[in-house]
Amino acid sequence: MSDPSFGEKGGEPPPTGLTSRLKEFRSAGKGFWANVTDTDWRDWRWQLKHRITSLEQLQKFLPTLTPEEHAGTLLANTKLAMAITPCFFNLIDASDENCPIRRQVIPRIEETGTAPWEMSDPCGEDSHSPVPGLVHRYPDRVLFLVTDRCASYCRYCTRSRLVSNATGYDFHPEFESQIDYIRKTPVIRDVLLSGGDPLLLSDAKLEYLLTQLRAIPHVEFLRIGSRIPIFLPQRITPELCAILKRFHPLFISIHSNHPRELTSEVREALGRLADAGIPLGNQSVLLRHVNDNSEVMKAHIQKLLMCRVRPYYLYQCDLITGSAHLRSSVRKGLEIMDSLRGHTSGYAVPQYVIDAPGGGGKVPINPEYVLSHNRDRVVFRNFEGKVFEYPEGADEIPLVREAATRFAEPQLV
Ligand SMILES: *Cc1c(COP(=O)(O)O)cnc(C)c1O
Repeated sequence: MSDPSFGEKGGEPPPTGLTSRLKEFRSAGKGFWANVTDTDWRDWRWQLKHRITSLEQLQKFLPTLTPEEHAGTLLANTKLAMAITPCFFNLIDASDENCPIRRQVIPRIEETGTAPWEMSDPCGEDSHSPVPGLVHRYPDRVLFLVTDRCASYCRYCTRSRLVSNATGYDFHPEFESQIDYIRKTPVIRDVLLSGGDPLLLSDAKLEYLLTQLRAIPHVEFLRIGSRIPIFLPQRITPELCAILKRFHPLFISIHSNHPRELTSEVREALGRLADAGIPLGNQSVLLRHVNDNSEVMKAHIQKLLMCRVRPYYLYQCDLITGSAHLRSSVRKGLEIMDSLRGHTSGYAVPQYVIDAPGGGGKVPINPEYVLSHNRDRVVFRNFEGKVFEYPEGADEIPLVREAATRFAEPQLV
């Protein structure tokens, strides 16, 4: 039975034209590279070789470069390199100075400023590093930094201190010391490959690395954190998928922030990974003028589900040096989370976290639903703001005799 008044009572605004436009799958197209052959365009090595890395290229392809971007690009390579794959570059709206794609990858002069609370290692990773290239912060899992290279560089990168060859960080190509540490540390049951972007390693290197890790009996679970499916979907070849599927259970966490990043090529690449049996999650960073908006965020997470990706974390932006212009407030983050939970599929709703400055790890930050809680009852609100209560139970009442024997070990007579 349908309730004709539901629309009014539910108070949900109908999807606007903006939402449906944001959720459309479009091809990144060849754009500025119209003369390139299809074979080259679809070749990930071609995409990498033709990345935009200099001010000259940027000026050629983006006539609307602002003074802030111009100055930022001149200085970028002294800190975090600029690199943008052609297919990602084509997502930029040249007529929009505040284009959400543009803000993520084109340097700005604001990057050279440092607020007093900003840090070069905001999550305190170096102090939790038992051997170079490995972060062991949580009891049962490690973060394994396998390369310092990415297909493109995010301007808010929390690891800008070591990616893009920033400081001559020491990556041992054979990964001996890291693998050795994992091998002799039996509490490690979960290894997360990150960097840099692990999917930039060659197939042979990845296969070698995954084989080494799989040979360690206490490593139960492998995962890869990668933005390659977004920046370079051409890299997700059938050959790569065939290798990855031999190392299950293996999960991949992708990183995307705005629905426009989810092109038809990206959806196909994610489909190949999902077809290889790889569960896919997404990590987003809350970014000012990129996705700090309920409608944009909702379109993004719904579109992720359409790509077979489960939104995993929404990060409050780390206090990385020079990121003030990209950071949104925690207040805004909470407001967005409040607009998601209950209002759309639970599977679409990520966990909002702050990676505690200085190295405390990820801490969940949630809108307040519990209004009061004492020994008798808990009073809480739902997503519509309606208030409910639930009687609090007692944990200390011992099991009655009869129930206790029911749960006891059977006795032989
Ligand atoms: C994020 C992170 C992990 C993984 O955390 P999960 O909550 O299990 O996804 C592991 N190690 C480090 C250092 C991390 O930053």
